[in-house]
Amino acid sequence: MVVLKNVSEVENFIAQIKSDEETIGFVPTMGALHSGHLQLVQNAAKNNDHVVVSIFVNPTQFNNSEDLQNYPRTEDEDIKLLENSGCEIVFIPSVKEIYPDGETSEHFDFGGLENQMEGKFRPGHFDGVATVVKRLLEIVQPDQAYFGEKDFQQLRIIQELVIQFKLPTKIIPISIIREPDGLAMSSRNKRLTSEMRAEAPQIVKILNEAKLFYKNHTVAETKDWVVEQFKSTKLNLEYFEIADEKTLEPISEKSTKTASRGFVAVFAGQIRLIDNLSFS
Ligand code: AMP
Repeated sequence: MVVLKNVSEVENFIAQIKSDEETIGFVPTMGALHSGHLQLVQNAAKNNDHVVVSIFVNPTQFNNSEDLQNYPRTEDEDIKLLENSGCEIVFIPSVKEIYPDGETSEHFDFGGLENQMEGKFRPGHFDGVATVVKRLLEIVQPDQAYFGEKDFQQLRIIQELVIQFKLPTKIIPISIIREPDGLAMSSRNKRLTSEMRAEAPQIVKILNEAKLFYKNHTVAETKDWVVEQFKSTKLNLEYFEIADEKTLEPISEKSTKTASRGFVAVFAGQIRLIDNLSFS
């Protein structure tokens, strides 16, 4: 496994792989790696000749500078974790390397996908995500790139990004990897206090119960019920939405024609956590 810091070094490796007509699987991450990330890497290794993992805490996708500053950075541990994962190239660029002309994002129109849920509560977030992913896909030129359903809205937006810009990469979704108590794995879990870590599995518990409740109740009733459930926890609900999996538009009436999914964002103390579950 090699660790590369410069775009030009990565491009040289990629040129060699392409000239050998071999395939590349790519896993973009922000580091502080956990078993969820490794699941993406293992999938990439199984289905491609070469695997590239990037570790880059992308400043343009943070709408909160404190969150950016406090985002966990564990580069040495990350490299150790990747050693036997099937990853061959770890790309750890500096901010200058990715944003030579300054830290600004492009503006994108994903037909409204970017304005729902996370887009509403984190203004500019998806412009930042799409800017960095587009840049990374152009550098790495993967045949397949792996994204977790943990960030379902992000996954949908990246699927639109490759269509819109005709990028020759297939986007492969990977199911959410959870801790034994159900909490969705996340780099941010490292920052939870022990009190909040104990409380956080309530998120998926309530999502699972809401899915059952929804079978016999309306969307509005289910939403009210979820709000009430979170009131009896120490978690602060930011939003709960039942949305169409394709358009991400909130569902107001049940329909058997479209697949729906429950989406939630909460504050566990200072730490913001998201999760989602198929409601179909
Ligand atoms: P991040 O480092 O948080 O930007 O995540 C990098 C990639 O790993 C994204 O595609 C995430 O959706 C994915 N990912 C993070 N956590 C999980 C998880 N618990 N299960 C599945 N995929 C995940």
